[in-house]
Amino acid sequence: MRIVLIGPPGAGKGTQSALMSEKFQIPHLSTGDILRAATAEQSEVGREAAKFMERGELVPDEMIQEIVFNQLSSPACASGYILDGFPRTVPQAEAFDRWLAEQECALSLVLKFSVTEDVLLERLAGRGRKDDDREIVRKRMQHYLNLTKPLVEYYQDHGLVHVVKGGQGSAEDVFASIQEIVDNLPNRQPAKKN
Ligand code: ADP
Repeated sequence: MRIVLIGPPGAGKGTQSALMSEKFQIPHLSTGDILRAATAEQSEVGREAAKFMERGELVPDEMIQEIVFNQLSSPACASGYILDGFPRTVPQAEAFDRWLAEQECALSLVLKFSVTEDVLLERLAGRGRKDDDREIVRKRMQHYLNLTKPLVEYYQDHGLVHVVKGGQGSAEDVFASIQEIVDNLPNRQPAKKN
């Protein structure tokens, strides 16, 4: 199973990734983690990527694609993976589709994590809640939605998007909703390669 995750910070992606990885027996790949590891190793690509990350910019598509596709070609990813942080743009999604086609395989689903402002506010609480917290959360969420809209639409056009309500119930409850989505997927073609 090849899964792409899309969702704002605080929506429970991390927790669900860990559960999915364990129950579906597939690795969880976070591009942020991969890039930070490459940077820490001081590899050539790591040093290149760091220049962009330090400025808070996206790493160029070609660079992130090379890094990600390289990882996805490893035996550990042979029976699938959970991708978190890639693709992040429509050109990346298009390149990913071309790459998947070359491998004669396809994406199984895209899980879009949605979370309400109230839940995000709850998760902020404890660190001291200011009056303008709601406004900050609203702005961040709007910014996030604007950024990811084209990507979500791209995958909606491909009929791959399923919504996970990240703030509803316990982590196990949320996972149960993911399991249900997976159980109800239309029959997929068996992978020939990868
Ligand atoms: P954040 O949610 O703060 O962006 P991430 O851990 O997902 O954190 O990513 C950290 C940084 O790594 C990003 O700011 C960006 O520079 C780079 N990065 C991660 N994924 C991608 C991607 N798919 N395309 C380009 N750059 C990426």
